[in-house]
Amino acid sequence: MQIKVHRGTHQIGGCITEIKTAVARIIIDMGSELPRADKSESPPLNIEGVTKGKQDCDAVFITHYHGDHVGMFEAVLSGIPIYIGATAKQIYTVVQRTLKRKLDKGNPELVAGFETLEAGKPIIIKNIKITPYTVDHSAFDAYMLLIEADGKRILHTGDFRMHGARGRKMPAVFEKYAKDIDVLITEGTMLSRPNEKVLTEHELGRKAAELLRDNKNVFVLCSSTNIDTIAEFYSAAIANKKPFIVCESEFQLEILRIVTENSTSPFYNFSKQKIFTYGENLHDLMGKVGFCFIGRANYITQKALGAFPDNLLIYSMWSGYLDKTHAAFDEYKCGFIDKATAAGSQLMQLHTSGHATTEDIKKVCEITQAKTVVPIHCEGPENFRLLGINADIILLQDGESITV
Ligand SMILES: [Zn+2]
Ligand SMILES: [Zn+2]
Repeated sequence: MQIKVHRGTHQIGGCITEIKTAVARIIIDMGSELPRADKSESPPLNIEGVTKGKQDCDAVFITHYHGDHVGMFEAVLSGIPIYIGATAKQIYTVVQRTLKRKLDKGNPELVAGFETLEAGKPIIIKNIKITPYTVDHSAFDAYMLLIEADGKRILHTGDFRMHGARGRKMPAVFEKYAKDIDVLITEGTMLSRPNEKVLTEHELGRKAAELLRDNKNVFVLCSSTNIDTIAEFYSAAIANKKPFIVCESEFQLEILRIVTENSTSPFYNFSKQKIFTYGENLHDLMGKVGFCFIGRANYITQKALGAFPDNLLIYSMWSGYLDKTHAAFDEYKCGFIDKATAAGSQLMQLHTSGHATTEDIKKVCEITQAKTVVPIHCEGPENFRLLGINADIILLQDGESITV
């Protein structure tokens, strides 16, 4: 069997990995590259049989709905089935529908045709058996994939962590389903962010509850699909008897409705207290009791900030977007925040990473007893060699492959 990493060997994003046997060929993730330091366009994707030429691929598996794993789905030749988690599919359909409505981009019709994955249910593609297992990540309904073929066991972790809402269960999941691994293809995001302090989502939740207790008007800037963080703020709002407000009903509210419908966990139940959609009609209520407003750097949030300039503005996203020296620096987001603070917002950062800490990556290498480790989704894959892992660490370049 051959494993080829088309992209993502030296970047946090753009993930595309191929597994090929004598008779079958599958692709794991079809991600967009994150912005480049020089802001140049990504080179076009040319994978013969997958994105161009005559179809020569049996299936594409998407581990989760983040753009760096699914963003290039439209490049896949029609006729190749694309698999994603069932709830992730619904959420990503809403994302694509919104993109289409607002920016005339996106392709919700194509996403609606995706096949679905279910945790623990294997999918057989010719002589390859692929079994998805739920992982803890900042995207909801995210998976790692156990791939069995030619008598070998490959584990592709996707993006994962052990400090989110589902984190405590993760070591047992690896222990139960993913031991005796021949090749571990693992994300290594945090190996290039060694100084980032990592809170657990529950620590973040406790802090959120304190902040909502001590501040009347609270705005939170976070990703609309970071369900764990939104759930922590929702619980904090309930505990503090504050109205929980979102920007718009067709997007954020719809995503939370999908999560509620598809989860049995009380933590992900967003029907415990009414969620308000922002409008001027709420100003009386907001003025009286304060609020927790889940916003984004958009016009609606800006309007609400303008109406309540005396507020705490919690930035709950990766700090790199506000770092002028980083390739992913987001000028628009930064300008949005500068404008708010100039008008009176008190800014603070409260965020936790969607990615496994160095210690947790090491733990996974040990639990899975991986003979070979192939790092992906990492700016410094050579740092894997410093972990003291008892495995052969293979550092690939984009487009390189190994034979197992
Ligand atoms: Zn991700
Ligand atoms: Zn990612």
